[in-house]
Amino acid sequence: YDKDTNRIQYTTFAKFPSVRLLPDAQRKRILVTGGAGFVGSHLVDRLMLLGHEVTVLDNFFTGSRTTVSHWVGHPNFEMVRHDVVEPFMIEVDQIYHLACPASPPHYQYNAVKTIKTSFMGTLNMLGLAKRTKARFLITSTSEVYGDPEEHPQREDYWGHVNCIGPRACYDEGKRVAETLTYGYMRQDGVDVRVARIFNTFGPRMNPYDGRVVSNFIIQALKGEDMTVYGDGQQTRSFQYIHDLVDGLILLMNGEETRPVNIGSSHEFTILEFAEAVRDIVEEVQRAEGEPNPKSVGIVHKDMPTDDPQRRRADTTRAKETIEWQPRWGVRDGVREMVLYYKQMIDQGKL
Ligand code: NAD
Ligand code: UDP
Ligand code: UDP
Repeated sequence: YDKDTNRIQYTTFAKFPSVRLLPDAQRKRILVTGGAGFVGSHLVDRLMLLGHEVTVLDNFFTGSRTTVSHWVGHPNFEMVRHDVVEPFMIEVDQIYHLACPASPPHYQYNAVKTIKTSFMGTLNMLGLAKRTKARFLITSTSEVYGDPEEHPQREDYWGHVNCIGPRACYDEGKRVAETLTYGYMRQDGVDVRVARIFNTFGPRMNPYDGRVVSNFIIQALKGEDMTVYGDGQQTRSFQYIHDLVDGLILLMNGEETRPVNIGSSHEFTILEFAEAVRDIVEEVQRAEGEPNPKSVGIVHKDMPTDDPQRRRADTTRAKETIEWQPRWGVRDGVREMVLYYKQMIDQGKL
């Protein structure tokens, strides 16, 4: 910030977006584990634009180099291929610990590895935070509430998780990761933040990761039947990625150390959501000059074991403590994502 001109200064390197020029005292060295994944790559973009020095740590299990390749070569950016299950040394001021597969097919693909990632990966990153005195934020999940008996879910609800079911590797993994996080806070004074993220969607979501938003949009764009599991009366509340990134950065830089829900309180049944996606895809196809888009059908498939019946975030704590609330409507977000996947399909990438 230049007091004489009353303007924020930016610095530009050839081929890169301009990033804010921060004075040394404000520029932070930030580690983002899982930074090549869907959420991580959007967080990295924002932290880079804000002018920080960002190191991405990722083993590329579900993420991809291409999500952050636009920063490779920038002097404020570094990408390291590393598995968080192994110790890692670096000097940093803040750690956003995201590394963990997030979609049910991916986290169930190798359940033991998922638990190791949550437990040993979080242990290592907390050890790193303890040694460097970095502030540590973990992306936990609404899955810690399991198939909830309280609705909507508040942070003081203890949850209802089946500890031996197919989702347990993820749910219990995140629960123990939270336990570790508060253990390090109490025992070693590590400065911690815990975000409990509810279903999030947006561009760069891996199109093959099997989550409902990507499945429905791709099926509708390709004119295939949309696959609704069970009768479709189970509910979810979907937030758009930019809202989540706002929330993570506010939480990291705020004072709240208790868990904070970051998610939408706009609840859809999965069947309603399928219909909404179908309408938006048709609207986009008409707007792009396809006069008679194929109307897609809905087929029902088996309900996965332990699929939570209802889920909606109570975000009172986020509002009160970090002044966060979602700004994107679900339909606007879905439209952005439809355009993103449509471009991939038109370019033959999908
Ligand atoms: P994602 O699968 O796109 O990203 C996860 C990233 O972590 C990938 O880049 C992957 O390669 C990396 N990774 C996985 N295991 C690793 C390991 N052992 N070592 C190093 N890197 C590893 O998922 P996402 O949607 O971006 O989720 C990011 C975080 O947010 C996760 O912690 C997830 O649990 C949490 N979360 C996401 C949602 C959501 O709806 N997207 C909801 C709740 C919580
Ligand atoms: N650790 C790490 N990077 C560091 C510091 C620690 O990966 O910069 C790992 C360390 O290898 C250990 C874990 O974090 O496995 C927990 O560290 P802590 O110091 O709490 O435990 P200790 O090493 O005493 O068991
Ligand atoms: N779902 C569905 N069809 C799909 C994929 C998912 O009906 O093609 C359902 C799934 O059973 C669940 C909801 O959509 O009830 C959200 O699933 P997702 O895997 O996206 O997230 P999570 O279950 O982890 O909330």
